[in-house]
Amino acid sequence: MIVVLNHGATEETINRISEKLQQMGYGVHRSTGKKRTILGVIGERREEAAQTLEAMPGVEKVVFITRPFKLAGREFHPDNTVIEIGPVKIGAGELVLMAGPCAVESEAQLLEAAWAVKEAGAQFFRAGAYKPRTSPYSFQGLARKGLSLLEKVRRETGLLIVTEVMDQFTVSEVAESADILQVGTRNMQNFYLLRELSKIRKPVLLKRGMSATIEEWLMAAEYLLSGGNYNVILCERGIRTFEPYTRNTLDLSAVPLVKQLSHLPVIVDPSHGTGKSNLVPAMSRAAVAAGADGLMIEVHPNPPEALSDGPQSLDTRQFAGLVEELKGVAQSVGRTL
Ligand code: PEP
Ligand code: MN
Repeated sequence: MIVVLNHGATEETINRISEKLQQMGYGVHRSTGKKRTILGVIGERREEAAQTLEAMPGVEKVVFITRPFKLAGREFHPDNTVIEIGPVKIGAGELVLMAGPCAVESEAQLLEAAWAVKEAGAQFFRAGAYKPRTSPYSFQGLARKGLSLLEKVRRETGLLIVTEVMDQFTVSEVAESADILQVGTRNMQNFYLLRELSKIRKPVLLKRGMSATIEEWLMAAEYLLSGGNYNVILCERGIRTFEPYTRNTLDLSAVPLVKQLSHLPVIVDPSHGTGKSNLVPAMSRAAVAAGADGLMIEVHPNPPEALSDGPQSLDTRQFAGLVEELKGVAQSVGRTL
């Protein structure tokens, strides 16, 4: 359930109600909104507890949340969550661009890609140091060495870094190099990893599992929120369907739907969503029109030579052209880029 407090409830009142909830055996998550404060109450549903609370001064009403995702849902947090990372705000209206190669391959490849995406207008550089590959014979990533190259990119270009963390054992290592830790589609329901990530405060980009329903995706986000990490960004990256012409089916209807259900920002990845570089521009435009808070796009200086995901990667010139096109789309839907 959630306890909606009166407009202008004082800190003292809020603390008194929180203490009462704790005495009753409930966990309390506070959400301070622009208009009012809401307390998310975690624990068993009890009518008499709701009645006791409703009688307390400062309480406007007690509402039972019917959806299984309590903290990720809009009922608990009616305002959009805005995640601030350095000078960048995600979810505040201005679109964010996360761009870069699938994998960290070498210093030269990384810096060339980074300067190009920065020049084109990206705020974040993406590249995996730890790579979850379908085949054990494919390039597996540069691991720790890759992370130090990403740190060099940040030092030299000022770009913020998004990179994948694959297991619970490397969370602190990746968190030292990353501004956003990415959970890949294959790990969306790795609950040990989610629990570990819930203990840190760095933002997590939670990609949708390739076979996950929207509810399963939001429940994965709930693991992060319920452990105390509220800095969660969702990323739609396509789901697996019967269609073989594309690598995945980019579910753009998920964008407005998730935004209705949840307060968390939503990013779209049209690169993994289609698997084809020539589909990326159209799906990027569509994602912006559908209300995405940003895009994650794979960009490689020389896609035919890429060690992973070359067929879906734009080259640096194509990326710069796409960003120009997106400015007009953003403007037409009341966003800026
Ligand atoms: C990636 O971003 O390179 C990646 C592996 O993504 P996903 O987990 O969506 O396949
Ligand atoms: Mn990739």
